[in-house]
Formats: sequence, C-alpha cells, structure tokens
Amino acid sequence: MSEFAFNRVAFIGIGHIGSSLAHVMRRGKLAGSIIACARRQETRDAALRIGIADEVTADPAEAVKNADLVVIATPLSAYLETGKAIAGSLKPGAIVTDVGSVKALVAKELLPLLPKDVHVVPGHPIAGTENSGPESGFAEVFRNRWCILTPLPDGDATALDRVTKLWESAGMNVVTMDAEHHDMVLAITSHLPHLIAYTIVGTATDLEDTLKSEVIKFSASGFRDFTRIAASDPVMWRDIFLNNRDAVLEMLQRFTEDLTALQRAIRHGEGDKLQDLFTRTRAIRRSIVEAKQA
Ligand code: NAP
Repeated sequence: MSEFAFNRVAFIGIGHIGSSLAHVMRRGKLAGSIIACARRQETRDAALRIGIADEVTADPAEAVKNADLVVIATPLSAYLETGKAIAGSLKPGAIVTDVGSVKALVAKELLPLLPKDVHVVPGHPIAGTENSGPESGFAEVFRNRWCILTPLPDGDATALDRVTKLWESAGMNVVTMDAEHHDMVLAITSHLPHLIAYTIVGTATDLEDTLKSEVIKFSASGFRDFTRIAASDPVMWRDIFLNNRDAVLEMLQRFTEDLTALQRAIRHGEGDKLQDLFTRTRAIRRSIVEAKQA
C-alpha cells in the first residue's frame, strides 16, 4: 500500500456528505489525488475552489478510471444511472462504497450493474446537517457519530477493513449490520421523525394567515425544532421515502396506532397514561444524552 490509504479517490457527487469526507481525506492525507464528479459547473467549480478535489468532471465514467476508491455520494435516485455509467470503467480490484441513507437498494440496484472484480462496501455515516452542497461540508461533522456499514454476505474482508478505517479516521464509531436491519432501524430513528416534522410544518403552512404569523412568532415553544428538521433537502428525503417504503410504512402503522391511543387518553382524561408515557420518553432522552448523541 502507498503512503496514502488510497492512491486515487473518485467522488460521484460532492455535496454535503461527499465534501465532508473529502475534507477528512485532505486533513489525514488519506488520498493521493481526488477527482470529483457532479453535473453542474457551479458544483465542480466549488469543489476546486474549496480545495477538496484536484480534478473535476461531469462524466462519472471518466471519474472512476484508475480510482482505487469510488465514493458514491449522490441522491439515491441517481444510483441506477451512476451504476450504468461507471460499470465499464472501474479498475479491477477497486473498492466502491456509498454514503446513502437507505441500504437495501445497493444490493438491489447497484450491485447487479457492476463488474464482479470490484469490491462493494455499502455505508451510511449517521451524521450531517440540514444543509446541502459542497460548501456546506466540514470534516468535524462525523466526529463521535455512528457509521453503519452493511457488507455483502460474500464481500471482501480487506475492502471492508479499509472502508472501516476510513470512517474511523473521520472520528466515527463503525458498526456493521445487514442492510434490511439498517433500513428498519433508520425508519424509526430518522425517517419517521422527518415525516412527522414535514407534516407538522406542512399543517402550519396551510393555516390561515393570522394563525400562521402567530406560529412563527411563538415558534420557540416547540415548533422551531421541527422546522429545522423540515428544512432538510427535499430531493434527498423524497428519495429516502421512495426507497425505504416498506420499513417506513411499517413504522408509520405502529406510530399511527400509538397516536390513536394517545388521542383516546386525552379524550377520556386518562392522565396516568399520558404521564406514564412522558416519563418513559424522558428516560430515553437521558440515555441519548449519556451516550453523547444529543
Ligand atoms: P447534496 O449536498 O445535495 O449533494 C449531492 C451531490 O450529488 C451534489 O454534488 C450534486 O451535484 C451531485 N449529484 C446529484 N445528482 C447527481 C447525478 N445524477 N449524478 C452525479 N452527481 C449528482 O446531498 P448530501 O446531503 O451530500 O447527500 C448525498 C447522499 O448522502 C444521499 O444519498 C443521502 O441519503 C446521504 N446522506 C445524507 C446525509 C445528510 O444529512 N445530508 C447524512 C447521511 C447520508 P450536482 O447537482 O451538481 O450534480
């Protein structure tokens, strides 16, 4: 192996997460050279200006030529076209990883398109802000967060080890699990909370004007926290719900049942039930704070 972890790294997509990882690679001198691929000139110009890429291109096939590591960091809806575009140009033995928020689709959509002599290591850093684009990235975004890798059953152990070390050098705690399990866990911890935030902010948006201005004025009472989540990237979240449909619908079903039970408790004045639930949820918050994930 060279003095760098990877001689040549290609990013397909260099937005919030891609650029953050590129910053980590620059900081740790983990890549001999970095080439970034994006459709828009302004994205490519920004990647060069910030200094997170040595070269840029709009052609994914061009980007992956001779790359030892390919990081797919586009929205999920671009996976199919990306797979088709890069398949014929990947170097034998290259590692192909991704950062997508839904994992079962890598084996379903991407893997069948790629040659057998590359090593695919699907990944998901559970980190990020509501911002998008290359200028929003920063290396520290990953520190002390979890990164979930969902290795394929017959995946290459060395490739998994190298991708694990990469995320560890970003300050992440790395765990592995199977892709379906990942998608179920994230449906309740991330996808459903976003759906609820989008719904609440959507409901407020549709209120009559006088009420709406009061909502904004008094937003510090709770609404404000939902607006931060509901400001997340629309394309990314559209793709998450379309690609993790079954798990999200399953969790939504459970949530709806619990919501109906709460509605009933309020209607019938069952204070004990409400207090019992709120006491248990408070304990969850404490354990998240203790786990330093707050
Ligand atoms: P982002 O900031 O919007 O960046 C997306 C990047 O992909 C941009 O550079 C964009 O540039 C490029 N792109 C879009 N469509 C493309 C296409 N068809 N071909 C090539 N490049 C394309 O998004 P992000 O937040 O980094 O999210 C990227 C991935 O990370 C998503 O799969 C998301 O699920 C995952 N993720 C996000 C977060 C988060 O909090 N943001 C956290 C964990 C994982 P152009 O528009 O110029 O092409």
